[in-house]
Amino acid sequence: MNKDCIFCKIVNNEIPSERIYEDEEIMAFKDIQPKAPVHVLIIPKKHFDSASDFKDKYKMELDSETEEELTLAGRMLAVCARLAESYHLNEGYRVVTNVGEYGGQTVYHLHFHLLGDNYGLQVND
Ligand code: 5GP
Ligand code: ZN
Repeated sequence: MNKDCIFCKIVNNEIPSERIYEDEEIMAFKDIQPKAPVHVLIIPKKHFDSASDFKDKYKMELDSETEEELTLAGRMLAVCARLAESYHLNEGYRVVTNVGEYGGQTVYHLHFHLLGDNYGLQVND
């Protein structure tokens, strides 16, 4: 938990959000300013500033915390794919993560944007 982080506050219910998925490690909620008909943010509950926090985690000898974190990143991708299916994004979609100022990042809590157009089909409205 980073006390100044808005996504940590969303995780802790200090800021409301339209949640569409939650488990022990991961949350997904609708982007407040959607840039596509389906625009969902998938975040780890644990705070990482961005995907660049993972740059030193790729190594042969893994301690258990690193292994858990790499598994978490894979599970986030799996959640993206499951949500894409539930939104009927059968023709394809985008999973985007922005890193740093020049990468367009505005919220410094790791998040994957799931962006797609399901041509009017909605499951969670
Ligand atoms: P970034 O630019 O960091 O990749 O994306 C941050 C995203 O978070 C933006 O698309 C923005 O609309 C969204 N966002 C910012 N603040 C909030 C908020 O309080 N609630 C929700 N649901 N989305 C937010
Ligand atoms: Zn955070």
